Amino acid sequence: MTEGAFPRTAQRFESVGFSEIVKVRNRVIELLSSGQKVWRFEGGEPWMNTPERVKAAMGEALARNETRYAPSSGIPELRQAILAKARSRNRIPADDEAPIVVNGGMQGLFAAFATLLDPGDDVLLLSPYWTPIVDLVAYHQAGAVLVPTVPARRHGLAAALAARTTDRTKVIYWNNPANPTGDVFSSAETEEVAAFARERGLAVVADEAYEDLVYEGELPVAIASMPGMFERTITCYTLSKSYSMTGWRLGYVLAPRRYQMPIKTVVLYTTNGVSTPTQWAAVEALTRGTDDVAEWKDGYRSRRDRLVAGLKAAGFELETPRAALYLFPKTPAWLPSDSRVAARTLLDEAKIATVPGIVFGPEGEGHLRFSFSVPEEMIAGGVEALASFAHATSGRP
Ligand code: PMP
Repeated sequence: MTEGAFPRTAQRFESVGFSEIVKVRNRVIELLSSGQKVWRFEGGEPWMNTPERVKAAMGEALARNETRYAPSSGIPELRQAILAKARSRNRIPADDEAPIVVNGGMQGLFAAFATLLDPGDDVLLLSPYWTPIVDLVAYHQAGAVLVPTVPARRHGLAAALAARTTDRTKVIYWNNPANPTGDVFSSAETEEVAAFARERGLAVVADEAYEDLVYEGELPVAIASMPGMFERTITCYTLSKSYSMTGWRLGYVLAPRRYQMPIKTVVLYTTNGVSTPTQWAAVEALTRGTDDVAEWKDGYRSRRDRLVAGLKAAGFELETPRAALYLFPKTPAWLPSDSRVAARTLLDEAKIATVPGIVFGPEGEGHLRFSFSVPEEMIAGGVEALASFAHATSGRP
């Protein structure tokens, strides 16, 4: 190599994107710092604070000097609490070593794909999808094969998956409830996907980040609880949404024996575990925090319903989602149909921040994502701003 030249970065980054949602957030921050008011619906966080008892548990852990290295897969007390929850609530037949504590849902998903994917393998996923998934798959030099959700649900999930399965297909990514649509797949649909995975010898990466945010109707069933499925499924959970702990970075994976070692290895060589006092806070959340979660549901539901009504009044077409934190309406006729242009127009001209649907895959084009998990004043003000912008725009010659 000639003097002064630099080694190029690893090729794996060539196909990995960096969150477009962050770009929207940066533009919002720019507007805010220039003194403008922005109606913010681009986020994806619970609207309330972390429960006091969870914060206190971290303080108590610090006072006990629980500040040293913990086993990299998690403190026994937390792994035990996870196991009890997974067996009773999710009905997953997990063995004692199945729970592995990770730095939020994201690290769990990273470790799951690292465990399963070789370059050239394919992952099936329903689209629209949560954006980082295709980047995680690309990072591992594998291919993301999109299965459009709406026609797949209409004609049968197994047939839709079968149509896109080849000898390179290794994994199904299964996100239930789903981001960005708030869809909840029924137990019959879950069983159909499970049967397909068993039949074709595929692994499943299950992402159940929104398991606690379901507002009505049939609750989702963990795919790993279905017959013969725990053995082929890596399930990723997080405390981020359930307990309003997005900044704490705590999640957990449930993996069968054959996948435990690679997941533990990824955790060991990336973060060497989660901060010890944070893990003690998580024990408190999982063992005594579940009542808080139930109480928050009314707050979510009323925010969701107010924002749905506001969007409908402004001419958006949408159904009320049963779960998660988001509305995913079609853009109305008075906005450009290109979702990036629509989001940009709303932000620049009405100071309303949303995420363009295209970010969630081609099936998201023509939609915008609004989070309803925001302060009530934000919904009131945002809906008013939207109504007057809609009025002014559709009145234009
Ligand atoms: N899965 C889905 C579908 C998500 O929407 C999120 C967060 N937005 C996560 C996983 C990961 O969450 P975290 O890393 O904050 O735990």
